[in-house]
Amino acid sequence: MVRGEGRPVGVLALQGDFREHVELLRRLGARPVLVRLPADLAAVEGLVIPGGESTAMSVLLQASGLYEPLAARLQEGMPALGTCAGMILLAREVLDGRPDQCHLGAIDISVRRNAFGRQRESFEADLEVSGLAGPLHAVFIRAPVVERAGPQVEVLARVDGRPVLCRQGPVLVSAFHPELAGDPRLHQWFLQSLTQRKENVRAF
Ligand code: GLN
Repeated sequence: MVRGEGRPVGVLALQGDFREHVELLRRLGARPVLVRLPADLAAVEGLVIPGGESTAMSVLLQASGLYEPLAARLQEGMPALGTCAGMILLAREVLDGRPDQCHLGAIDISVRRNAFGRQRESFEADLEVSGLAGPLHAVFIRAPVVERAGPQVEVLARVDGRPVLCRQGPVLVSAFHPELAGDPRLHQWFLQSLTQRKENVRAF
């Protein structure tokens, strides 16, 4: 099992369900650091961006002065895990966003917000994930979907044929909430990418 070994791992704590990520990372032995201001970012080796409301997080990212230093760290190859709204914020292109919504362009995907429609606004599913043995229980809440994944992006799981879990180098994003299902395997992948940092190549 991958352990966090006391590593300082940031959790963006402007809005959304950051507490659940903090608990899970602590359980894995990492040292979660709440990130609310640019100074908080300096000490962390990677960042989790939680689910919540991407438009609200976008406003707060800009108001807190975090947007630019965060974009710079991601550009340098800092590992990141983005869940749901976090996936939207890390994407290269956001469809059905607010016109002034900012995003970080850390993974070459186009995501459409609230894309599963009214009947499937919230649902749960057991996903087959490439690289994981056994199904991953996933909770979807007003989830985005990936409409385009660039050539460098690995699609690791799909629902109805649409990508819901993607990775590009050290950036892992899910349309669902792994932190709510109590399955630590995606967080373990993220912690693993902290130790593999030197091999990371950002190529777009
Ligand atoms: N629909 C939300 C958004 O656009 C994301 C929902 C979530 O994070 N559960 O930000």
